[in-house]
Amino acid sequence: MNYRKLGNTGLMVSEIGMGCEGFEEDQCRNTMRLFDAAERLGINYFDLYTSNPEVRSSVGKALKGRRDRFIIQSHVCSVWKDGQYKRTREIHDVKAGVEEMMSLLETGYVDVGMIHYVDSLEDWRVITEGPVLPYVLELKKEGIIRHVGLSSHNSQVALKAVKSGFIEVLMFSVNPCYDLQPASEDVNALWDEKNYKEPLVNMDPERQELYETCQRQGVGVTVMKAFGGGDLLDERLSPAGRALTPYQCLHYALTRPGVATVLAGAHSVEQLEASASYETASDEEKDYAMAFAAFPKISWKGHCMYCSHCAPCPKQIDVASVTKFLNLARAQGGVPETVREHYEVLPHHAGECIRCGACETRCPFGVGIMENMRQARELFGK
Ligand code: SF4
Ligand code: SF4
Repeated sequence: MNYRKLGNTGLMVSEIGMGCEGFEEDQCRNTMRLFDAAERLGINYFDLYTSNPEVRSSVGKALKGRRDRFIIQSHVCSVWKDGQYKRTREIHDVKAGVEEMMSLLETGYVDVGMIHYVDSLEDWRVITEGPVLPYVLELKKEGIIRHVGLSSHNSQVALKAVKSGFIEVLMFSVNPCYDLQPASEDVNALWDEKNYKEPLVNMDPERQELYETCQRQGVGVTVMKAFGGGDLLDERLSPAGRALTPYQCLHYALTRPGVATVLAGAHSVEQLEASASYETASDEEKDYAMAFAAFPKISWKGHCMYCSHCAPCPKQIDVASVTKFLNLARAQGGVPETVREHYEVLPHHAGECIRCGACETRCPFGVGIMENMRQARELFGK
C-alpha cells in the first residue's frame, strides 16, 4: 500500500481508504471483518459519515486494542433521529450528536472531524456565522477532534471553505463526469442527463482551481463518489456514454492535485480486496487516457489530465508532474515556495527537454507539451 500526506495534518494515509457503507450488514458484524481485512491490506483511513448508533458502536469495538493503527474521519452535524440519519446545524443537536459519537466510538478522539455535507453558500454562512464553527474549533482545542474537515459536492462552497483557512481536510466528490459540471447546490444535477446533452469540453475551471488550491494550501482531499455510485462502471448508466474500470476511476481521482486517499465503498472483504488490488495493477490497467479520448460526449482538448500517457520521455522527465507544478504556479501568478520545493526534488526537470516531440504524439488530449516544458523551464529556472 502506498501512503500519502494528508495535506498539512502530518498524517500519512493509505491512498485506498474506506467508506462505511458496508458496516451495517449482517447486524454490523461486517464492521469487524472489514477492519480486519483493512489492517491486513494496509488500509488505514476510514470515513464514518453515518450517525447510526449501531454502526458507530461496532466501529468502537473494531478499534479496540488497535486505535493507533487507523485514522478515522467522523462527521459532526450528522445525527440520528427517529431511527434515521439527519443532517443538522442546530447546535443543541450537533453537540448531542458529538457526545453520542464519542461515547459509542470509545476512542477519546477522532482524527478528522468533518463538518457534514455543506453544499450551499448559505449553509456555509450559517456554519461560520453561527455557533457550529466555533464549537468545532473548540472540539479541536480540546483534542476531541484533531483536525477540522468539511464534506461537500459543491466546488464553489468547498473553495470558499478551503480559502477560509479553517479547513484542513476536504471530503469531495471527484470523478471525470462531475469534474465537467459547474457547481450546483443539488448533487443530482451533476448526474442529470439533460446536463450531458451538449458535448462537454474540459474540466470546470472552479473545480480545477479547487484542487490546485487544496494542493497549494496543504488541504488534504479525501475522495468520495470516485465511481459515481457505480454508474461510471456501466456503459448504460455512465453520463460519459462509455464505461470505465474501477482502476481507471481510482487512478483518475488519485492523480488530481491535493488528493490523498480515495474512500472506496466496500460491502464485503472481497470488494475491499478488489479496491486494494489497485496497488498492484499495471500502468496499462490504470491508464484512463485512451478511455477518456474515446468518450462520445466529452472531450478534454489541450487540457492536461495528469494521466502520464505521454511517458516515457527519453530524458526521463515526468511530464505530468512538471505540468501539474506549472499549472499550480500559473494559477497563483507566481511560484509559491512549496511548489518550487516539489519541483526541485523531481529527478529530471523541464530544462532537460530536447524537444523530440515523442510525448506529444502520445498525448491523447493534444496538450502542447514542448511549450509547457519551455514555460516550466522559464518559470522554475531549470
Ligand atoms: S501531457 Fe497529455 S498524456 Fe501527458 S499527462 Fe498531460 S494529458 Fe496526459
Ligand atoms: S519533447 Fe521533451 S518532454 Fe517530450 S518526450 Fe521529448 S524530451 Fe521528453
